[in-house]
Amino acid sequence: MCAAFPSACGKTNFAMMIPPKAFTDEGWKVTTVGDDIAWIKPDEQGRLHAINPEAGFFGVAPGTNFSTNPNAMHTISANTIFTNVALTDDGDVWWEGMDGEPPAHAIDWQGKDWTPASETKAAHPNARFTAPAAQCPSIDDQFDDPKGVPVSAFIFGGRRNSVVPLIMQSFNWSFGVYMAATMGSEMTAAAFGNIGEVRRDPFAMLPFSGYHMGDYFGHWLNFGRQIPEPPRIFSVNWFRKGEDGSFLWPGFGENMRVLKWVVERARGKSKGVEMPLGWMPKYEHIDWRGMEDFTEADFENVMSINRDLWIKEIASQDELFLNCTTGCLKR
Ligand code: GDP
Ligand code: MN
Repeated sequence: MCAAFPSACGKTNFAMMIPPKAFTDEGWKVTTVGDDIAWIKPDEQGRLHAINPEAGFFGVAPGTNFSTNPNAMHTISANTIFTNVALTDDGDVWWEGMDGEPPAHAIDWQGKDWTPASETKAAHPNARFTAPAAQCPSIDDQFDDPKGVPVSAFIFGGRRNSVVPLIMQSFNWSFGVYMAATMGSEMTAAAFGNIGEVRRDPFAMLPFSGYHMGDYFGHWLNFGRQIPEPPRIFSVNWFRKGEDGSFLWPGFGENMRVLKWVVERARGKSKGVEMPLGWMPKYEHIDWRGMEDFTEADFENVMSINRDLWIKEIASQDELFLNCTTGCLKR
């Protein structure tokens, strides 16, 4: 599985996911090849392989704890460089969202005294850890194999408060390329029933692409036509919010339920329904064991497609392609 999410949209968490118990009991297992970059190349048979070019993980510290990402916590238990975190009086590191009580006193990321009564954050929101990949409990045997691992599906997703459903499968390769090209994150909180300002980040590659984005899209369209069985393409949104501003989807390990549907779709096994924007699972197509309190109504909420909002969304996507030829995406 190859997933592309823009910065701070969940790559590291997704790569180190621990499935819910009902899944692991049945033999479902997530191993980590990498959490950041994939170099994608076809093998002699034309099957796409993803190569991890990195030896370590460079992850966002705040919010990382033993319940959100235990694999990351084990990975960073030794031989790790921390930047812009807080330093505790006993020489340990600390950040907002770590397990347990905040320290009574610490040196914050700017080198100043900090206590829980301080109005500023102890760690910078983008404080990071750098740790050897081999220390990760879920590391895949082939994580440093120069041949890489076969790719069965691509998943694209940004941080959208509204509009974009939890999971969709594109109808075909070109439609999937369109989905990936138009992905983005909402930068501002919008009034409910509207769209916030969306920062498009095609393929999550905007900060890294050194040439005209249109050429990049063209390349994806082309190589998909040249391989015998292109991987299926999916769009996800773990970050949809309700009227009260809280997340509609629990995320993290529960994302395995979506991932299982994706894996089985890629194998031509699980069911879905044809909707205007792609194939989507119905409530009964998702494995809910251990999460029975998430009702069918909750699911419909996180999967809903609002026609009026999508008319605005598509107009905003048109703007992106105009920018491709005249504006910010042209290099
Ligand atoms: P990366 O920069 O793309 O690797 O993103 P991370 O995996 O480091 O996550 C960035 C932020 O998003 C962290 O604060 C995570 O706790 C949060 N996050 C990751 N996955 C999820 C999810 O499934 N749901 C929610 N609500 N937050 C998530
Ligand atoms: Mn990361």
